[in-house]
Amino acid sequence: MLEDWHIPQSGRVQLLPGWQLYPRSVVEVEATTYFLVRQAVGAGKVLAVVGDAAPFEGERQGDVLLCSLSAANAAALRARLPWLNPQPLDLALSAGCGDRLGLATPGHVRAVRAVGGIAPIWAQQSIRENARTGRTPQQVIDDAMWGLFQEGWREPWGADADHLKTTADVDLCVAAGYSFYTVDPGDHVDNTAHTAPAEELEGKVRALPWDRLEDSPEGLQARYLDCRSEVEGVSIEFSSVSLARAAAKYGRAIAHTAQMYRHLAAQLDQFELEMSVDETETPTSVEEHWFIANELGRLGVRWVSLAPRYVGSFEKGVDYIGSLAEFEAQFAQHAAIARALGPYKLSLHSGSDKFSVYPIAARHTRGLVHLKTAGTSYLEALRAVAGTDPGLFRDILALARERFEVDRATYHVSGQLANVPTPAAVSDADLPGLLDQFDSRQVLHLTFGSVVAALGARLLAALQGDEEAYYARLEAHFRRHLVPFVN
Ligand code: ZN
Repeated sequence: MLEDWHIPQSGRVQLLPGWQLYPRSVVEVEATTYFLVRQAVGAGKVLAVVGDAAPFEGERQGDVLLCSLSAANAAALRARLPWLNPQPLDLALSAGCGDRLGLATPGHVRAVRAVGGIAPIWAQQSIRENARTGRTPQQVIDDAMWGLFQEGWREPWGADADHLKTTADVDLCVAAGYSFYTVDPGDHVDNTAHTAPAEELEGKVRALPWDRLEDSPEGLQARYLDCRSEVEGVSIEFSSVSLARAAAKYGRAIAHTAQMYRHLAAQLDQFELEMSVDETETPTSVEEHWFIANELGRLGVRWVSLAPRYVGSFEKGVDYIGSLAEFEAQFAQHAAIARALGPYKLSLHSGSDKFSVYPIAARHTRGLVHLKTAGTSYLEALRAVAGTDPGLFRDILALARERFEVDRATYHVSGQLANVPTPAAVSDADLPGLLDQFDSRQVLHLTFGSVVAALGARLLAALQGDEEAYYARLEAHFRRHLVPFVN
């Protein structure tokens, strides 16, 4: 028996038995209809085009052109349906939904829709994550685009080229059409200035790239010394030592950010910039935040969000570690500065699972906030697999245990391998519970690159075999992340 669906305009389109339609994907524009189907559960998805299918590459089946989800077909579809292109979100309350496997966007869309009031960044990946997952910036955007097409998302959305360190990184992401560029000048932050004695700071300040800063030590002092600024009750005042410390610590990072900004502005009319120093070793003080924002502004940089390095620890995949009272006291002042010197958003990097921080961030930013998540969607994928394919989950856990000590090198985490059980020691029923245990979460989280390299095909097949299970986990998990920001 033929299974058929009513497709607007073109009447009834017949496809072979077993084909599955994604009903929210169906869209008709200028007498051409587009929708997503797959041939069987677990099979790859294809784009179906009925009508003017000229720019698409595919195989004809009656009235329908069936097209692979290739980069060329993604580009052709974006050209036809403008809402499939990422765009600037300005100062809207926003959340980044990084997705290392490329299958999570439908779950993210469902959560954002359910919660409402949040501008989404559906594509977000750093060059480091690209290297670990073997994906390109273009694939990251395309995967997110197919996901939002599947769910019929038509509102504005962004694509975040995360943690860009060089102009070559920028160029890759400009070519792929990103809308939001996160510049990470962390390699140019001098963490030793945080505690260096005054005489050492003097030398560091003299050695700053004054030409690139379009400034001089005297000019710097004239702007900041002997003046006191007041922002919503927060008073900002520099001594010659604290000014030298701020300049020594962040001067090169500011010059690098300005260079990255100008490199972008030379290529793009429309883009958003974030400056992030979240992955540096020493916290950004309120005065240093003030200094960074003033200096970037002086150099003509325009940015939409900024990620200081906050006090305490934002470790991957687990809640905030540190004093919440101290965090709140500092964060409130950072938020006041972001309002006064922008306004721009404060960005929460490694924002996954920081449930105790969300209410504080929401309260003090009054909506001027951007939440970044990434690895937590991968952990939800593992949680889904722990339920549907315990054998595969055990293989992933075994590999993660084996790789953890090596893979953790570029991350700050306190999880201990000794607290993670061996696969054989856990019953099937208890496997999903490992995703609620601190050490296991971090061991599984950090080893994603090794797991994707060795077991990626099996993992993707397992998730595609039961998509709804994965989407349901994601939706529930992201609602918990987003609700505190809109209440
Ligand atoms: Zn980050």
